[in-house]
Amino acid sequence: MDYEPIRKTEINETAVRPNLLDYGKARQGFGWEDINKELDRFDDGGINIAYEVVDRHVKTPMKDKIALYWEGKNGESEEYTFHDLSKLSNRFAGALRNLDVRKGDRVFTYMDRTPEQYIALLGALKIGGVIGPLFSAFGPDAVKDRLGDCEAKVLITTPRLVNTVHEVLDDLPALNTIIIVNRRGVPYDLKDKEFSYETLMDAAPEEFEIEKTHAEDYAIIHYTSGTTGKPKGVVHVHEAIMGHYATAKYVLDLHQDDIYWCTADPGWVTGTSYGIFGPWSNAVSQVVYEGGFGAGHWYRVIEKYKVTVWYTAPTAIRMLMKSGEKPVRKHDLTSLRYMCSVGEPLNPEAVLWSKEVIGLPFHDNWWQTETGCIQIANYPVQDIRPGSMGRPFMGVTPTILDDNCEKELPPGEEGHLALKAGWPSMFRTYWNKKELYESRFKGDWYITGDRATMDEDGYFWFVGRADDVINSGGHLIGPFEVESALIEHPAVAEAGVIGIPDPLVMEVIKAFVSLKDGYEPSDELMRDIKKFARKKLHAVACPRKIQFIPGLPKTKSGKIMRRLLKARELGLPEGDTSTLEE
Ligand code: ATP
Ligand code: MG
Repeated sequence: MDYEPIRKTEINETAVRPNLLDYGKARQGFGWEDINKELDRFDDGGINIAYEVVDRHVKTPMKDKIALYWEGKNGESEEYTFHDLSKLSNRFAGALRNLDVRKGDRVFTYMDRTPEQYIALLGALKIGGVIGPLFSAFGPDAVKDRLGDCEAKVLITTPRLVNTVHEVLDDLPALNTIIIVNRRGVPYDLKDKEFSYETLMDAAPEEFEIEKTHAEDYAIIHYTSGTTGKPKGVVHVHEAIMGHYATAKYVLDLHQDDIYWCTADPGWVTGTSYGIFGPWSNAVSQVVYEGGFGAGHWYRVIEKYKVTVWYTAPTAIRMLMKSGEKPVRKHDLTSLRYMCSVGEPLNPEAVLWSKEVIGLPFHDNWWQTETGCIQIANYPVQDIRPGSMGRPFMGVTPTILDDNCEKELPPGEEGHLALKAGWPSMFRTYWNKKELYESRFKGDWYITGDRATMDEDGYFWFVGRADDVINSGGHLIGPFEVESALIEHPAVAEAGVIGIPDPLVMEVIKAFVSLKDGYEPSDELMRDIKKFARKKLHAVACPRKIQFIPGLPKTKSGKIMRRLLKARELGLPEGDTSTLEE
């Protein structure tokens, strides 16, 4: 499927001069040393993420700038300056130190997106703790698996969620400190090992001597989304901040006077790399909205806070498309100047829709928990080729490798997407899974597990996860291509595509389809969708079977779980479903 590129001259984003003006030149002249100079290392060369994202601004005129505009789910709003965040995280760090929490200890949060979560994570980094944010929607097993895997010592949670923790406490011998954040003051009696956040904070001093962590000290452990299997604990170091900072500046194009909104929860890597570290290391004000998805609510947040740069995910964009143009027209979204997307392939239809309806196209970018920061992206200064992830970030070298992951393939050929190892925010290990970690490298290359192609101009095109690619009669078909075609049908809201075994051609394509409001499943509609697909796709890529379902199974970060569609279809075990969004 070919789509006309969206020329940068057609995009009305030019009111602000992009940070990246000449991609080719910037890529050629790029060195991580230059990024390093814009940060503020300790005298001994050490670096601490919390220092880079808040404390260093306190020495500058940014001190009293609003870092966080917080909107609670009940409509509460609060504002925190960089100075506030610095002082509050100092207090929390002091409280942790008093509780004998030490450098290297794993400190997890398990709570909603309230300011305390951000303060706690920053405070934990200040003592040299290794932070691990969890989704508040996790059930007991998901909590147990993650805290147990890395023997977390501290958990910060709330009265509502601690019951879930109590269910699995006996299985978590290393967990000796539970801090209860009770911002809404509900009646709660502290149990054994439990401390009140509010009491600890009241007693702690505003001054704190930050732990002088080294570049290679562990800082973050993030469990992957679990889209393809059991989530893995991906470990990042303090030096990773270089990647967050640089990509937030040049890919998200953050400027001093932006109001930025990243819709991701810190439980997903996007919500820390770009919901904490990227914007704040650039001293940019950001909005955190505690509430969940809702087209009207989201547009209201943009209008109220005059959001200028917006970072979200394809699943949310598809839901916005599903809710149509009407809610868009009810709000003033003219503050927006730049929009990005990550997490799943961004269907070309979504790019065209946003340009048409919101007036700006989403810029897709690609990365993984393992890569720590954006690796391939669409930039403000370049034309968008709808359906493409864009071009490599400076200082990053992706390639396409053959089936054995040995030979680099020429443009146009499909293979494994691999990255030359060695950028600062690259993961350093999978916790407790050294062998698995090592198996992800071949020679100089880190093998991402995704399949893609690169065109003559260096744009990368996602084909599918290696695990999801369908082999039909010797043709490899990525589900993305088929799903993208299906969602162009006016009745289709979302599509998930899998291969099911076939005696003749190995696999045939089955599509699970959810419909937009106002459409009902029927045989006639099914025939129409099939006919539509035949017009858009090669014969081998056309779905043989279509099944209507009310919604697709997704991870909490919004990714379609094709492995679950497949397991359910074939009556196989469902595997790890801890990240499944119910
Ligand atoms: P798991 O590794 O547990 O299966 P996951 O891979 O979904 O989960 P993440 O690290 O959150 O966990 O996601 C990274 C993956 O998401 C990428 O490898 C890719 O498959 C997909 N992805 C992210 N951004 C894009 C994008 N812009 N286009 C296509 N795919 C993307
Ligand atoms: Mg993965």
